[in-house]
Amino acid sequence: IKCVGILTSGGDAPGMNAAIRAVTRAAIYNGFEVKGIYRGYKGLITGEITPFKTQNVSNIIQLGGTILKTARCQEFKTPEGRKVAYDTLVKEGIDALVVIGGDGTLTGARIFATEYNYPIVGLPGTIDNDLYGTDTTIGYDTALNTIMDAVDKIRDTATSHERLFFIEVMGRDAGFLALNGAIATGAEAAIIPEISTEVDQLEELIKNGFRKSKNSSIVLVAESPITGGAMHLAERVQKEYPQYDVRVTILGHIQRGGSPTAHDRILASRMGSAAIDALLEDQRNVMIGIRNNEIEYIPFNKAIKNDKPIDRELLNTLRKLSI
Ligand code: ATP
Repeated sequence: IKCVGILTSGGDAPGMNAAIRAVTRAAIYNGFEVKGIYRGYKGLITGEITPFKTQNVSNIIQLGGTILKTARCQEFKTPEGRKVAYDTLVKEGIDALVVIGGDGTLTGARIFATEYNYPIVGLPGTIDNDLYGTDTTIGYDTALNTIMDAVDKIRDTATSHERLFFIEVMGRDAGFLALNGAIATGAEAAIIPEISTEVDQLEELIKNGFRKSKNSSIVLVAESPITGGAMHLAERVQKEYPQYDVRVTILGHIQRGGSPTAHDRILASRMGSAAIDALLEDQRNVMIGIRNNEIEYIPFNKAIKNDKPIDRELLNTLRKLSI
C-alpha cells in the first residue's frame, strides 16, 4: 500500500473531523500518501479527490460536521456505480480506503471490498451508537451531551408550568441516546425500540402512575417507527388524561451538530490511528472498535448486524431512580 483514501459518508457526526485528522496524520507518519475523497462514495464516482498533507487537517479537531462533506449516493448501490468507483481508485493510485460512517456506509464498504478484493478499514461514525463491536461510536457522546443540555432547559419550563413533556431524540432504531439521555437528565422514562416489542411501554408507565406527586414529567422517546415517535405517544396520553398539560419537543438536527466532546475527540483520534495500524497489519474489511478501552478489529458483517444489545442494568437504573 502506497496511498490511502479517506471519505466520510452517511449522516455527519461530531468527531468525524478529528477522525479525518487522525487517519491523515497517522498515514503520513507511516510513510503513506493520503487523498481526501469528497462527498462520500459520490466523490469516487465524480472524481472529487484531493491530495492531503498534514496542513490540510490543521485546526479541525474541534469542528463538528465533516470537512470532506458527506452525501447519500444511490449509484454506489449498483454494480455499475461501484465499477466507476473502482476505476477512479485505480486512476488516482489509491490502494486502500478508510471510510467513516454508519451502518449503510459500512454495508457499502463490505460489498465493494468483497467485489473487488480491495482493502477497506471502517470507522464507526454515527451519533446513533448502533454499531456492534464498539462501546461507543464517534459522535454519540457529543449528541448525548447536546440532548442533556436541551432537556435541562426544557425541564425549567416543564417544572414551572407543571407539564408533561415528550421529547423525541434521534437514534434510528436504537435507544442508546434516549435511555442514557433519560438517565443523565433525571427523566421519568425512556421509550425505546428495543423494548417496544416486549411490552407497551406507555401503558406500563401509565399503569405505574408515573406522574405521582411530581410537578413535571419528562419522557424521552427514541425516534423510530417501532416506538411511534413522541407526537403519537403524546396524543395517546392526552386522550386518556385530558387533565394533563402535555407538550412535545422534537430535538431534531441540533443533535448532530456542535464541537465534539473530549471523549469523541479522543475516540476518533485513537480509532483513526488504529485504522492505519490495521492496514499495516494487512487487516481488511474490518471496523475499528474500542471495547473495554481496548482497540479491536471487528469484521464488517459483525459490526452491521444491527443487534447491539441495550444494557438491562441501565434500564433498571432508570426505573429505580425515577420513582
Ligand atoms: P447514519 O447511520 O448516520 O445515517 P449511514 O452510513 O448508515 O449513516 P446511509 O445513508 O445508510 O448512512 O449510507 C451511506 C451511503 O452508503 C449510501 O448513500 C450509499 O452510498 C452507501 N450504501 C448504503 N447501503 C449500501 C448498500 N447496500 N450497497 C452499497 N452501498 C450502500
